[in-house]
Amino acid sequence: MSSSFQPVLDRIATEIAATPGRGRPADYIPVLASVDPRRFGMAVAELDGTVYGVGDWQHPFSTQSITKVFTLALCLAREGEELWEHVGREPSGNPFNSLVQLEYEAGIPRNPFINAGALVVTDRLQSLTGDAAGTLRTFLRAESGNPRLGYDEQVVASEAAHSDRNAALAHFMASYGNISTPVPELLDQYIRQCALEASCADLARASGFLARHGILADGSSLLSRSRAKQINAVMLTCGTYDAAGDFAHRVGLPGKSGVGGGIIAVVPGRCTLCVWSPGLDERGNSVAGVAALDRFTTLTGLSVF
Ligand code: GLU
Repeated sequence: MSSSFQPVLDRIATEIAATPGRGRPADYIPVLASVDPRRFGMAVAELDGTVYGVGDWQHPFSTQSITKVFTLALCLAREGEELWEHVGREPSGNPFNSLVQLEYEAGIPRNPFINAGALVVTDRLQSLTGDAAGTLRTFLRAESGNPRLGYDEQVVASEAAHSDRNAALAHFMASYGNISTPVPELLDQYIRQCALEASCADLARASGFLARHGILADGSSLLSRSRAKQINAVMLTCGTYDAAGDFAHRVGLPGKSGVGGGIIAVVPGRCTLCVWSPGLDERGNSVAGVAALDRFTTLTGLSVF
């Protein structure tokens, strides 16, 4: 691979533009349904923060579940191994907002990337910091280098008006003692995290610590090498809803998608990527996003395998 990722990104964008069929934007959070599914952006960040991009790579979009990676990192950094007593690290094989496993597994969610698991992680970060969403925003601003990164209040309102499922998950886990924040406060914190807006450039840069084995942009350490490995491993096995096996098969990188159509991916020791295109497949992953990452690893040979 040459030192610049620009030619490969340009080639991928040309191929994607020529591909019909982009899926449909998520509509269970009504405001997300209005985003044009033909939008496409992709960025690659080198370990030193140099970013290459194509298409809508600087356009802010709704990060949604991508933020679950950063919340997990912030919680793991503060709490350490004890976190894993409250949330598992196995693929769920069920939709991201499913309730069914919780009853069989005594309120312990399968992994931190399904909604139930993310609510547990947010609950713990809220107990540790008093402001989980604000802590996350500060972190993302610092690591992306974008001081304007913030909440999309329209998305906050839209999701808050349609949060019955997440409220049910939180109450159910509270009944097992696995949630301690009052549920309305927890939902507000969770919804605000999901409603953070960022561009591919922002998220590729902000994910850099996962490729730098836990080292932040300023050279300080957030996570040990071993804990950064843990997060990448959970991304690989659980990061793309109940299609993580297919994503690993096609892309071969740790990745995390969100229903806003974004996906981040990590090449440990080399670079981080973010791709955005709002049209989703039936599992909730961006159709063009997965295709673009598939082409990236094929064309560059960069994967974890
Ligand atoms: N805010 C969304 C929800 O809780 C996030 C879902 C996602 O991106 O997977 O339903």
